[in-house]
Amino acid sequence: MNPPATSLIDVAFFISIEFSQVFLKFNIKMISISNEGVRKMIVLKNLNLIDANGNFLEDESVIVDGTKIKEITKNASINAETIDMKGYTVLPGLIDSHVHLSGNGEPNMEIAMLKDLLPTATLKAYVNAKNDLLAGFTTIRVMGDRGFLDVALKKAIEEGMLNGPRMRVSGQAISMTGGHGDMWLAPGITYSGFGVIADGVDELRKAARYQLKMGADFVKLMATGGVMSEGDEPGSPQFNEDEMRVAIEEAHKAGKKAAAHAQGTEGIKNAIRAGIDSIEHGIFLDDEAVQMMKEKGVFLVATLSAVFNIKKYGKEAGIPDYAVRKTEEIMDQHISSFVRAYKAGVKIAMGTDAATPFNKHGENAQELELMVNAGVKPVDAIMATTKWGAELLGMDSKIGTLEPEKEADMIAVEGNPLEDITLLKNVKFVMKSGKVYKFI
Ligand SMILES: [Zn+2]
Repeated sequence: MNPPATSLIDVAFFISIEFSQVFLKFNIKMISISNEGVRKMIVLKNLNLIDANGNFLEDESVIVDGTKIKEITKNASINAETIDMKGYTVLPGLIDSHVHLSGNGEPNMEIAMLKDLLPTATLKAYVNAKNDLLAGFTTIRVMGDRGFLDVALKKAIEEGMLNGPRMRVSGQAISMTGGHGDMWLAPGITYSGFGVIADGVDELRKAARYQLKMGADFVKLMATGGVMSEGDEPGSPQFNEDEMRVAIEEAHKAGKKAAAHAQGTEGIKNAIRAGIDSIEHGIFLDDEAVQMMKEKGVFLVATLSAVFNIKKYGKEAGIPDYAVRKTEEIMDQHISSFVRAYKAGVKIAMGTDAATPFNKHGENAQELELMVNAGVKPVDAIMATTKWGAELLGMDSKIGTLEPEKEADMIAVEGNPLEDITLLKNVKFVMKSGKVYKFI
């Protein structure tokens, strides 16, 4: 009925689209300019540092440009914001290669898991991850958690919505029926905990594909029984080699990696033959297993803290009888396997298994102390928590050493951790991607 008005509306609509496109272009330009504008240089002065080869260098400066390290020098004479590092020792941001986020050392994790709502678990995971960061762990690898909360949290941190560490995640761990990760509930009671159940080659392939689809960086497989699972024994093999092979193949096809919870000798060897990238725990390693790991470049993430704290606190503190009993049976063997592998030159990465009983987020550096007490050189304990951890995570081009062009992930302690590894339990300064999260 009213063509001129319609035309006017059309014109107005057209103009508004044009305008918004121009505005959009203008806006994008503004964003890039302002990003350039906030990209600031910071000079950290008056510090010692541990370099990429584990050498202790005195009286250095580090120039940070935006999110990256620009230069390490003795003479930083540029005009930029300066932070006096009080003579502290600066190291690369630490990496904990084995944590679970929704728990924080409760004596009986399974009860806590059954009671918490998934959103509650996610909020707890956020607090725990933040405590890892403030303790100097600028990167963590999450090895199984509920309902993809690790994937969601990783994304929220990457998008700048929340403060937290850099994360590599596995989604849910894959376990066999009745395996480590199966909750052993009565028929009719369904609950999806840290794990999903799969049996046989086809189900394993599908389960791995599903984890990868949901955002897993690692596929986590339960190759043997464990300490914290009621119905199995650490020594028993669980997934067969052919079952693991297909899941690992799927991870590798996607450019990702695979890790096996593997405690008993046979299960460890099955996982290695199937192509695994890391053995978690590795309690019963014989010489052949050690040799196989060495030949194939498989990492060992021993998680000494898990066993140590169960033994230390015991049944009196509410830890289930079965976990205490199994810990007592395997503890000596665990340490001797770890030492055998380390001395033979197997690649090691530091992981705590934080969330297991009394193994708390924020106290992750206890693991380095246990490693050194077991006979690891302090410099190697530090490498396992920085450079070698980054290699396991496939992030060594980005993090793990203090070098130009790497992310400015740095921590500082008072004194020389090569002389006293426990200094890492008291981190004074935390920077992640050029942003300071702690300085005392
Ligand atoms: Zn674990």
